[in-house]
Amino acid sequence: MAQTTRRQFIRQTTLAAAALRGAPLTALTPEWGVAEIAEQNAAPVDAKTMRKFASAITGSVITPAAPEYESARQVFNRAFDRRPALIVQCAGASDIARALEFAQRHNLPLAVRGGGHSRAGFGVCDGGVVIDLSRMNQVKVDVSKRVARADAGSLVRDMDQATQRFGLATTMGGCPTVGIAGLTLGGGEGLLMSKYGAACDNLISAQLLTVDGRQVEASQTSNPDLFWAIRGGGGNFGVVTALEYQLHPITDVLAGTLTYPPGRIPELLQAFVKFVATAPDEMNVVGEVLPTAEGPRFHMFCCYCGDPQQGTELLKPLRALKPQQDNIRVASYLETQATINPYAPAAHFQTDLFLPQLTADAIATITTAANNAPPNTRVFIVALSGAVTRVGASETAFPLRQPGFELDIMGRWLDPYGKTSVVEWVRSLRDKLQPFAHGVYVNQLGDTSEDLVRAAYGSNYARLVEIKKKYDPKNVLRINQNIQPG
Ligand SMILES: Cc1cc2nc3c(=O)[nH]c(=O)nc-3n(C[C@H](O)[C@H](O)[C@H](O)COP(=O)(O)OP(=O)(O)OC[C@H]3O[C@@H](n4cnc5c(N)ncnc54)[C@H](O)[C@@H]3O)c2cc1C
Repeated sequence: MAQTTRRQFIRQTTLAAAALRGAPLTALTPEWGVAEIAEQNAAPVDAKTMRKFASAITGSVITPAAPEYESARQVFNRAFDRRPALIVQCAGASDIARALEFAQRHNLPLAVRGGGHSRAGFGVCDGGVVIDLSRMNQVKVDVSKRVARADAGSLVRDMDQATQRFGLATTMGGCPTVGIAGLTLGGGEGLLMSKYGAACDNLISAQLLTVDGRQVEASQTSNPDLFWAIRGGGGNFGVVTALEYQLHPITDVLAGTLTYPPGRIPELLQAFVKFVATAPDEMNVVGEVLPTAEGPRFHMFCCYCGDPQQGTELLKPLRALKPQQDNIRVASYLETQATINPYAPAAHFQTDLFLPQLTADAIATITTAANNAPPNTRVFIVALSGAVTRVGASETAFPLRQPGFELDIMGRWLDPYGKTSVVEWVRSLRDKLQPFAHGVYVNQLGDTSEDLVRAAYGSNYARLVEIKKKYDPKNVLRINQNIQPG
C-alpha cells in the first residue's frame, strides 16, 4: 500500500475538513498554509470519517473551512499562529472522550484548551485536534458547605462572579480570562494565596477522563496519586472535566497600586523585600519594574483581605516612600480581580524564575537590565509568603513552597521586527539571574525543555514520571510542559 507523506496527510485532512463543512474542495490549495503537523505516522482522515466523527459530537466541530475558524484557533499569546485540523468545542465529557479517541486513532497531535492563556501556546496545535472546553463553563456554589463545583472550561471571572454573589471566593489568578483548570493544574497563584494557599491547595476533587476514555475522580480518597499529581503537574495525566474547590468568606478588600516616580529601583525593591518579610497573611503584594522613557518605574500592587484600618496602618512604610500615584482603596474583591491585569492578548515571550531571596546582587542585575530594556518589557515580581509556603514541597506536585519571589520576565512585540530584541532581553536577564534562582513556576513559562520541566518540579519530578506512566504511558497528552513517561 502506498505510504502517505506528512504533506499529503495535511492536505487530505484539510480537504476532508472542507468537505465536512460543505466547502468546495478546490477552495483549499496546498499554498493555503496549513503548518506541518508533528506526527510521522498519522493515518489519513477522509471526509466520511470526519463527518461521522462530527455527527457524534454534541458541541461543535470547527474546521479550517468554517467562518469562525480564524477566531476559534486564536490563543492569548499571539506569537502562536497555529492551524489545527479540527477544533472540537466540547459540550461535555462524552465529546471529550470522542475527541480523545479520534485523535489517537488517527495519530493526530492533541491540544487541550481551557482559557487559552498558556504562555507557551499549548492551547493550539498545527494540523491536529484541539479539545476546546470553553463551552463547559458552569459554576455551582453550595453556600452551606462553602464549596464550588466548576466545569473545566470555566474562566477565573466565571468562578469569581459565581462565588462573589455569596460573599465567597477561592484563590484564583489575577486575570479574569485565564482558565481555572490550566491555572489550578499548574499550581495557581493569586491575591488570596498568602491567606488561603494556592488554587491547587483549595482543590477538593477533580473529575478526569484518562486517555483511554475512563472517567476517574481524583481526591484525597479517590486515586490519591493522581490527586497529588494534578495539583501542580499540569495537564499531563488526563483531561479534567470538572473541579471542586473550597471557598472562603471574602467581600471587600483594601487594594490598588502604588506607582513610584522613575528611578530609585534598588531602594524601592529593597523596601518591597523588607515589607514582604513582615507582612501578615492577609497582605499580598506584587511588584513590577517597567521601562519608561524617563527610566524604569516601580509599581507595587497591594491587596489586603483583612480589616481595612489595619491594612492602611501596614501600608504606611510604602506610602512614606512617596509614590507619585496611590489608588489603594476599599473595593470589592470581584472588582479588584477584574482590574488587576491590564494586558490584552498580544505576541509575547515570557519566562520565569523563582528566587528564594531578592539579594542586593539580584536587585542590581534587575536594575541594570531595566535601565537597558527595550519597550514593552517588564519584570513582574510575585511575593510568595504565608499559607502557600506552609505546605510541604512534596505534599503536592506544585513545589514552590518556600518564601521567596517568583519573577515573570516578559516582553511583547507589536510587529515581527520587535521580536528579536525583546526575546534576547528576556533570555539575557533570565541567564543573569540564574545563579540566584531555585526553580521556576511551570504556569508562567513561555518556552519548554526537559531541563526546564525538571527544574520546575525538582524532587517531585521522579514521582510525576511514575504517575504519568500509569495514566498516560504513550504520552498522548504531550502538548504541555511535558512530563515524559520515559
Ligand atoms: C495574562 C495572563 C495572566 C496570568 N495570571 C496568572 C496568575 O495570576 N496566576 C497564575 O498562577 N498564573 C497566571 N497565568 C498563567 C496561567 O495560569 C497559565 O498560563 C495557565 O496554564 C492558563 O490556563 P488556560 O486554561 O487559560 O490556558 P490553556 O492554554 O487553555 O491551557 C494551558 C494548559 O493547561 C492544560 N489544561 C487546561 N485545561 C485543561 C483540562 N481541562 N484538562 C487537562 N489539561 C488542561 C493543558 O495542558 C493546556 O495546554 C497568567 C497567564 C496570562 C496569559
